[in-house]
Amino acid sequence: MKMKKSDKQLGMGRAITRRDFLHDLSLASLGLTLPAGAMGESIVSKPESVSAYYPPTRTGIRGSHPGAFEAAHALAREGRVFSDPVDLDETYDLVVVGGGISGLAAAYYYRKQFGADSRILILENHDDFGGHAKRNEFHQGGQMRLSWGGTMNLEYPEFSDTVNALLEELGVEIDELLEGYDFEYGNGPKGSPSIFFDAETYGRNELVHGFSIRGGGDHGLEGKIDRFPISEESRESLSAFYARRENIFEGKSEAEVGEILSGISYTNFLVEYGGLTDEAANLFVKTTHGYWGVGADSLSAAECIYAGLPMMHLLGYPEVSGSGDDNAGGDVAMFPDGNASIARLLVHSLIPAVAPGSDATNIAMARFDYSRLDEATSPVRLRLESTVVNVINSDAGTSVSFINDGQVLRVKSRHTMLACYHAIIPHLCPEMPPEQKEAQKYQVKRPLILTNVLLRDSKAFDKLDISGAYCPGRLHGAVWQVKGVNTAGYQHDWDDAGPVPVMFWGSVAPPDSSLPVKDQHRASQAMLLAMTFEDFEREVRTVLDGMLGPAGFDVQKDILAITVNRWPHGYAYDYLDLWDPEWPEGQAPHEIARRPFGNIAIANADAGADAYTHVAIDEAYRAVKNLNA
Ligand SMILES: Cc1cc2nc3c(=O)[nH]c(=O)nc-3n(C[C@H](O)[C@H](O)[C@H](O)COP(=O)(O)OP(=O)(O)OC[C@H]3O[C@@H](n4cnc5c(N)ncnc54)[C@H](O)[C@@H]3O)c2cc1C
Repeated sequence: MKMKKSDKQLGMGRAITRRDFLHDLSLASLGLTLPAGAMGESIVSKPESVSAYYPPTRTGIRGSHPGAFEAAHALAREGRVFSDPVDLDETYDLVVVGGGISGLAAAYYYRKQFGADSRILILENHDDFGGHAKRNEFHQGGQMRLSWGGTMNLEYPEFSDTVNALLEELGVEIDELLEGYDFEYGNGPKGSPSIFFDAETYGRNELVHGFSIRGGGDHGLEGKIDRFPISEESRESLSAFYARRENIFEGKSEAEVGEILSGISYTNFLVEYGGLTDEAANLFVKTTHGYWGVGADSLSAAECIYAGLPMMHLLGYPEVSGSGDDNAGGDVAMFPDGNASIARLLVHSLIPAVAPGSDATNIAMARFDYSRLDEATSPVRLRLESTVVNVINSDAGTSVSFINDGQVLRVKSRHTMLACYHAIIPHLCPEMPPEQKEAQKYQVKRPLILTNVLLRDSKAFDKLDISGAYCPGRLHGAVWQVKGVNTAGYQHDWDDAGPVPVMFWGSVAPPDSSLPVKDQHRASQAMLLAMTFEDFEREVRTVLDGMLGPAGFDVQKDILAITVNRWPHGYAYDYLDLWDPEWPEGQAPHEIARRPFGNIAIANADAGADAYTHVAIDEAYRAVKNLNA
């Protein structure tokens, strides 16, 4: 039997909303030349009008999109020098490098500390603000359908007083978000979780309905594992594993158990303590890709408890996993475009003219006027498509060079806030102390992918009675319908059978998972950047066809748009049991990396070595406090 369908059978030639033809955009094609004698802000390219420039609706390759990263890579990887900048006639109190949540929050806190009339310029290399807080907006048949391209939910139980205060000032009510939330991360409420074995990897397409790899909740195993297209021995080992209830560490102290679990990889734990075959243990590898950018074979068993992977039933608990099924665990607070709404609320508070009349109750529905982001009359300006390549500190202040529309430009500022990835800071500020630059390079962000596919309708999902699936053999481990986040003025109910975004979430499998984890990240980053839009398109078509085809889904006709949010530099690197030592207080790399340097302060989630929106905000607050008047 032929396992692989041809591109034609998969509908690869079919018209969908804007394909991305820009994949091979090279630095040379950016035309990095200086315009003869150009001076002043008239040479800064910026969005022309509200209708012409609205990046949330762009499809194709998003996230780290062509045009966003080439200058930074030339600087950091090829040692390219961007000399002879043209001085703009612009002076600021603060320049912020990076328009993600942390950079936007830094601008917010700066105005509180130094006055609302502070002049601030935010420089962002992408064509949209928000960084990982990325809004994906689809329009179909008069309806707007929203999804997120990066950061999704607010981890509100973890919030500091600082973050709670900011959200209150922005008008965000966690209780209202909780009330409107019915998304459940592939675990209903309509349809059960399932596992999809694909023909290319497992020899036949097999969708096992009502099975959660995490094995928690009410999803019985009867007759399910029997259908897995793996060896009989592996199936038996899995059935026995889920059925066990015991404490395998009976008599050991908590510290002893902790030491064992943090010293063994999760997959080795499954084999050694769980009794699984290697083949069965491998089914779990992809479960952690969306959370850590590497497989469960590179993470400790202790860490995987937090990802809700099965283990609790071997530690003396009745339930198989700590967080139930394939959801994030607990009550979830979300906006329909994820934390892009937080970024939009911050931008709105800094530059109200972008969306007059918007607030936290209707922010999801607001159409931002991007032509208002960078106006000379506004105290705060946000300049997109601007990659910072050099920041110099002096007693008098800072000067910041950046590339915009192929030109090297420079502005002066009293202070600069580096809210960008830490790994690039040594290249932006070569004068920083060697120890600090080394610490910044320690931070290798985790590569992630979040691909949204707009389907004509959800009939096939409904017919199969699934809300999503875990796909152990595919690029994206998780596939979930995006519905039921009815907050901030947006409504998309589960009984709406019309157009629906389906999110594919995960990371590329690194070519060699025995390498140190950061080498795996670097290899995956390179693989991710080398992938074309067609690679992603073929992948999602193959999965949707195999999974939904038997329920009437027509792969040639039912895909309306594809937005690939690729993030080679995704989550901030948090330290891992198997790969990082313990550092004395104040000596961890992120603590050294974020030290202020003269008039330059350092934020970003990297500064907290923890990949969360609230960390990005906390670090912005701390970094602004580092600046002297
Ligand atoms: C797929 C995905 C899912 C996530 N899900 C969640 C979640 O559910 N909950 C949660 O709390 N967190 C989540 N996160 C983590 C997310 O990283 C943080 O929540 C937060 O958005 C980080 O904000 P930041 O400002 O620190 O970094 P970023 O969002 O990375 O922003 C930094 C910005 O600086 C820009 N930049 C870098 N270098 C330069 C330069 N030289 N010049 C100009 N600009 C530059 C970058 O391009 C970027 O836009 C997720 C992340 C990803 C990728």
